[in-house]
Amino acid sequence: MTATDLEFSQHPSANPKSDQERTEILADPGFGNHFTDHTVVVDFTADTTGAGGWGNARLEAYGPIALDPAAAVLHYGQEIFEGMKAYRHEDGSVWTFRADQNAARLNRSAARLALPQLPENIFLESLRQLVTADQNWIPTREGESLYLRPFMIATEAFLGVRPAREVSFRVIASPAGNYFGGELAPVDIWVSRNYARAGRGGTGNAKCGGNYAASLAAQLEAEAQGCKQVLFLDQFNDNAVEELGGMNVFFVFKDGSLVTPALSGTILEGVTRSSVIQLGKDRGLTVTERKITLDEWRDGVASGDITEVFACGTAAVITPIGQLKDGSEVIGAPDSKAGPVTMSIREQLLGIQTGTSPDTHGWLTRLV
Ligand SMILES: *Cc1c(COP(=O)(O)O)cnc(C)c1O
Repeated sequence: MTATDLEFSQHPSANPKSDQERTEILADPGFGNHFTDHTVVVDFTADTTGAGGWGNARLEAYGPIALDPAAAVLHYGQEIFEGMKAYRHEDGSVWTFRADQNAARLNRSAARLALPQLPENIFLESLRQLVTADQNWIPTREGESLYLRPFMIATEAFLGVRPAREVSFRVIASPAGNYFGGELAPVDIWVSRNYARAGRGGTGNAKCGGNYAASLAAQLEAEAQGCKQVLFLDQFNDNAVEELGGMNVFFVFKDGSLVTPALSGTILEGVTRSSVIQLGKDRGLTVTERKITLDEWRDGVASGDITEVFACGTAAVITPIGQLKDGSEVIGAPDSKAGPVTMSIREQLLGIQTGTSPDTHGWLTRLV
């Protein structure tokens, strides 16, 4: 058995939720509130030279983790994660979207956080194991899916500062409805002037918990202003638009072209972002990754050059942006509705994911 060809030992839950309890949860899953009966765990151990390998792969009952209070993750935040979804198709098969991209990004994040590389086949097999065991947890109404959360944590008990030599990779799953709750409606956004989520040379382009911790104070500020999400700017670069706390941003121009902020090192490279770029090009649209400033956003909306703005990410798919609030200034009309380009790309993306539109790029991987 090689390091990349693991056998998963099976320890099914002795206490799965009852059919009735699961049915009640699936009737109104919300987002991130409920978890399935199982979890997958794979452990990594290294010697003092850093050489090591993955082993003890297992499917086990979902439940609390026994962790030493000195575990490095609890003190120095050595943690990364991914976010993806499993979709039940009409014929009963279960698929995930661009899993190779998530596996590659996990490893880019791992390199930044000095965590070990995880072979792609262990990543994929972990998803397969969990989704196979918990496939009766996949909700199937429009816009619903099983959200998958792979993550890697430093478990070694050691308070010195160095990369941990004991690490666990885990996957949990959560039935998911609409991220923002209720019907799809434009979300209002608060411009963060007091806080940044990332800085040059930092961890902004890694998917790690620390970036989210850094975004919470700004998120609280946004909520106090009646907004659901925060927009982060690069204040040292003409207030270039970066992204929301957990979603990338796209602008639709009057001539039909799409613009999204160029990857700057402080922006997380979303799989949804890359997919929208590709789908835009497939439609013959001009799609540009470039610097776009807050001034251009304001002026473009005022002049009518910018006709739609939307946010995108796995959790919320594609969500129209309504008003942008920057202190007392408001950009965008209060009665804005989801625009036609936003909705059309959203429908195509959801169609590919749920198996009702052709998957011309081979983006789907069958899990079950
Ligand atoms: C995960 C994430 C996104 C969206 O990435 P997807 O791969 O499209 O889900 C965008 N920004 C941040 C900060 C993220 O963590």
